[in-house]
Amino acid sequence: ENKETETIHEMLQDVITLLYSQARLQNVQINFEKGQNSSLLCDRSQIKQLFINLIKNALEEMPNGGKIDIRQRQADGVCIVDVVDEGPGIPDNVLEKLKEPFFTTKKEGTGLGLMICTQILEKHNGRLDILRNETIGSTFSVFLPVMN
Ligand code: ADP
Ligand code: MG
Repeated sequence: ENKETETIHEMLQDVITLLYSQARLQNVQINFEKGQNSSLLCDRSQIKQLFINLIKNALEEMPNGGKIDIRQRQADGVCIVDVVDEGPGIPDNVLEKLKEPFFTTKKEGTGLGLMICTQILEKHNGRLDILRNETIGSTFSVFLPVMN
């Protein structure tokens, strides 16, 4: 672990760039809505891994295209990033199992991605909320304390 001062816009932009060609192959558009650029005391590669896992999951639920919105803002000393997809959403009976290790609904899934996200967020005093959207898809919301 190697915590330094990093800014959220640059880390998210790096991740979006990394996943751009996969998204394009699937005809998925990734939109990045930026709020106030938050400074975080964090391990840059871990925070990037966290968002790679979330955006990859979103992509994996959208084989036939659509859009993913990455919505970032800062409020009350907290940096909030919503990853909003247009996938099939999460059935109620599955919602509570998602963060468990080895839970997967994919043929070749490991079921470790969200557990790793949770571990990374614990080390950064953050939190992950999972919501099913009212119309279509799901929202994974990341909360991270801002540096002052
Ligand atoms: P894996 O991707 O290897 O299956 P994860 O821990 O990343 O493991 O995800 C666990 C499960 O959570 C997935 O198999 C899927 O059922 C569900 N899930 C994760 N992200 C989404 C999403 N954006 N929309 C719907 N279901 C999701
Ligand atoms: Mg995954």
